[in-house]
Amino acid sequence: MSNFKTLFQYRLSLVKRSIPRRGENMDRCPTCQISRPHCICELQKTNNAKVAFCLLMKDSEILKPSNTGKLIADVFKDTYAFIYSRTNPDNNFLELLKNDKYQPYIIFPKDYATDNQVVFEPIPIKNPLIIADNKIPLFILLDGTWREAARMFRKSTVLHNIPMISMAPDILNEQIIDYNNSNYILRQSKKAGQLATAEVAARVLKSAGKEQSAQHLQHWFEVFCYRYNLAKKSIVEYDDSPALNYLDFINNNLKE
Ligand SMILES: [Zn+2]
Repeated sequence: MSNFKTLFQYRLSLVKRSIPRRGENMDRCPTCQISRPHCICELQKTNNAKVAFCLLMKDSEILKPSNTGKLIADVFKDTYAFIYSRTNPDNNFLELLKNDKYQPYIIFPKDYATDNQVVFEPIPIKNPLIIADNKIPLFILLDGTWREAARMFRKSTVLHNIPMISMAPDILNEQIIDYNNSNYILRQSKKAGQLATAEVAARVLKSAGKEQSAQHLQHWFEVFCYRYNLAKKSIVEYDDSPALNYLDFINNNLKE
């Protein structure tokens, strides 16, 4: 299962009807998962940057409407998504790691690196990451709560042989977004400054010198957060400026 939409449909097919999902009563768009009047799908535009992402997703994360890994897949066609399994890693994931076209990096805090693991430290960005000309960087993100991600990394020896782009643990994803003036938080934050998966991806792009792609993803993330929270009625005052800023960015940067 290597595409987010296919993975989502597959995971949905496993849900037993008798177990209601949170927020199930909301009439959601099946694609963006936001309630239909606030759907963002018409705004979606892909970015042609030479980058690839791989989401290793905790099973419980895939169907959460607040998941932001799917936003990465919206923007970058070359995005793979797999259900994480410690004991039985997806063969397509293992094959992907061997694909010559790509230069894989795991995004994680350096404190977790194994002794032999190569570590780059561009996040927070000090020096832009250098990517070989003939390779497409493949950024691997562990998509789950921070606690789950730490466990996923520790238990997966296959991840210990991949060069690491280190990021400070305090900005690592807690899968939280709530719209609060200039802060975007989707779930109740335990710590200020932690980022959602899509924001982490935007920072990684910036560190790889892909400023325009980073901005594209960050704008898309902000559109999602605003509309998601509007649908949840977490926002009282209507101000669709994230969408307007996003469209402005698209019109100025992604001319066909
Ligand atoms: Zn939609």
